[in-house]
Amino acid sequence: MYRRWSGPNLAGMGVCLHRGRRTAVYVGALVFATGSLGTIPTTATASPEHAPSHSATAEVSGATPSRLTATGLTRANDGRSLSDVGITANASLRTTPARYAPGTPLDIRVAGTLDINATANAVCHGLELTVMRGAIRLGGRLSSPDRSPIIAGETRVEPVNLAFDLPVDDVPTTGNISVDIALQCSPVIDGTWDFPGESSVVATTTIRAASGTVIVTPGWVFPDADDAKEARVTAGTTGGKSTIRVKRGTKTVWTKKTSKSRINLAIPTSTLSKSGTYTVLVRGDGKTARTTFRVSKGWAPLMSEPAHWERCSTITWTYNDAQAPRGGDRQMIEDLTRTFDLYERLTGLTFVRVKEGPGDIVIDWANLSGQADGWGGASGYAGILSGGSLTLSTTSRWAKTPGDGVDGRGALLNHEVGHTLGLGHVTNDRELMFPIHTGGVSPLTPQKGDIAGLRELYAPANCP
Ligand SMILES: [Zn+2]
Repeated sequence: MYRRWSGPNLAGMGVCLHRGRRTAVYVGALVFATGSLGTIPTTATASPEHAPSHSATAEVSGATPSRLTATGLTRANDGRSLSDVGITANASLRTTPARYAPGTPLDIRVAGTLDINATANAVCHGLELTVMRGAIRLGGRLSSPDRSPIIAGETRVEPVNLAFDLPVDDVPTTGNISVDIALQCSPVIDGTWDFPGESSVVATTTIRAASGTVIVTPGWVFPDADDAKEARVTAGTTGGKSTIRVKRGTKTVWTKKTSKSRINLAIPTSTLSKSGTYTVLVRGDGKTARTTFRVSKGWAPLMSEPAHWERCSTITWTYNDAQAPRGGDRQMIEDLTRTFDLYERLTGLTFVRVKEGPGDIVIDWANLSGQADGWGGASGYAGILSGGSLTLSTTSRWAKTPGDGVDGRGALLNHEVGHTLGLGHVTNDRELMFPIHTGGVSPLTPQKGDIAGLRELYAPANCP
């Protein structure tokens, strides 16, 4: 969008009228860059034993689901275990998270089978999976196993497939999460269940938060964007002190020490004063995790993830005069041609006007604001969402004034075509992509930051 200001009471000085219609809908997902510290052993096997408490553990981390085998583990609250009454169960389970980034919800999946063997006829009543953090129950699922009697000597294969979603506040970056699998069975003696309290098979898998995953969001930072988002580093360690270091090249530009296991810090924009690739290093637990993010100064993309046309390609444009003010279409084509010629030199793209449309970029007219009589108000808007579009306001005197001089619409067209190529607004009023145009003061053509953005998006030097 572009507004022109030359109100009589303000003598042509730059005044921010930042209100009204946005240039485009901002879409796109945040870019997450992740890195992780090494891996933690993911397999453990428990040997048969009659233990009164949890007996098998596995540490789970990173992208690899863990496999846990628990053989004949029994626990009984009444002094008798399942094996005492002739029932054994072997658990073969996988627990996921595929990747657990601290500061995000944790999705735990437990899948596999329980093999239940009975020397006497038996019935199993319940299968319960419980997610614990220490002594605190975070969540659980109860399922009903097959309740038909298991005949002595048979093996019953009981599927296990349960999911838990733990809220972010419940997910520790330090300590363990355990998943208890409890199976309750009873022998059937003389046609009746002997149900001696709670006899359970318990297998425990211990999930340890992946240590040192680092996320920087957004992954591409534009400090001059009129909706600039700060760079935030999110990380987790498994305890102790950690150091967060931000580097540009080999030079450290910011350091922070913390004893928190869950790290969520904003990187001050003053440390991001130069364009380039920055590295974030988080050192904790004697290990270092790192990720990178990019900073672009002087310009901003129209969308949170820079969208652009294919580099070095040919882009067609059409002029739709359906709602155009009377007369002046020939001058309109001249003004648009001059603008596209300018951008051809700055982008390496080739712009071709086609009379039968729609072209890749469509220029048309509409009554945009109802308030845009004279110079003020929204004179045009443009975007690059599904192709490029550029609409001029039929109520704007500026849009209707031909030429590229101080009063002409050339600067308006240059600004709006900048949007159709993917440029967004910036806070520096010396750049063409500043949203308010002050007659006689504002630039008429792309400036240093605008050109830097076009270079970043289109790399014109690499075009043949
Ligand atoms: Zn604009």
